[in-house]
Amino acid sequence: MKITDMKVHMMQVPLVRPFRISLGVITHAVSCLVEIETDAGITGYGEGSPGPLITGENLPGTVETLRVFREKLIGMDPRDIEGINAVMNRAVAYAGTAKAAVDIACHDILGKAAGLPLYKLLGGLSNTIETDMTVGIDTPELMAGAKEHVAAGFRVIKTKVGTNIADDIARVKAIREAVGDDVKIRLDANQGWHAREAVELLKRLNEYDIELVEQPVRRFDFEGLKYVTANSPVPVMADESCWDSKDALRLVSERAVDFINIKLMKCGGLWEAKKIVNIAEAAGVEIMLGCMAEESGIAINAAAALGAALGNITRADLDASFSLKALPYEGGFTIENTKDLVLSENPGLGLVRLKEEMFQ
Ligand code: MG
Repeated sequence: MKITDMKVHMMQVPLVRPFRISLGVITHAVSCLVEIETDAGITGYGEGSPGPLITGENLPGTVETLRVFREKLIGMDPRDIEGINAVMNRAVAYAGTAKAAVDIACHDILGKAAGLPLYKLLGGLSNTIETDMTVGIDTPELMAGAKEHVAAGFRVIKTKVGTNIADDIARVKAIREAVGDDVKIRLDANQGWHAREAVELLKRLNEYDIELVEQPVRRFDFEGLKYVTANSPVPVMADESCWDSKDALRLVSERAVDFINIKLMKCGGLWEAKKIVNIAEAAGVEIMLGCMAEESGIAINAAAALGAALGNITRADLDASFSLKALPYEGGFTIENTKDLVLSENPGLGLVRLKEEMFQ
């Protein structure tokens, strides 16, 4: 089987409401959707969603990188995923978003060629994964609206924090009082605190029964991350500090974190993500599968398949497509019990079609 073409489409869909994190505000889902065509008549779908606040990438740059990849990948066998990733990694450094789009599309083709849903190819432990629901930064009164998510069926609320101590305490207090004691609350500071400040704050927030905190300090502050992990009563998860398997190896070797959050847009796709999962599992560190707030749902089908397939992926934050006014595809996972992503039994990602009418 050979790749005969790779089409790249741009898409922007407004979110139901703007989403604020400590680094800035997100208003749209923004994606490059790719269709990799083959001489076997199989087409693979992939998505790369640049998140400028997190990865520094943008839509025109991602489109250009995909053009570079297209030239190199035509003629290759899309099922040779190690080879495909090697070609991309030699051609362009970093650029996880463009690489993820190609990697996901090749996995979709692999599944279709094998006649298996992706979760079966990746490990097959389960066909279902439960996601949390994320609350953006706002006034404590509005963030207490998290209770509506709980009433709808979510059992885990992830809340964005990371602006200043007084406001962050008021936010978490308001959410805990609103949702009651039976709901898990996880925090995400998106690099918003300094290490000592984080430890002092987490000691105070601990009374609200916090499951974990994501990325308390700047992504490059490795010593600060270690300090928080060693001194905070709340377990710490690396997000922006863990891009790929090399970061994961250093983080777990030095016991700098308790958990790692994998996003396909950071690491460049499922192939690299599996390496992170394996390194973490060997160190006794559990994984959360996350997504960019800008994702439209296609890449979430891939992330959910990996999350369901492997036992060391014990948490999921795959809620971005819940905030979209419309999905740009048909098929894929269905949602049961409000919070459970149930994967398609169709081969590959299980997508039926991309909605061309939503392309730019
Ligand atoms: Mg995060």
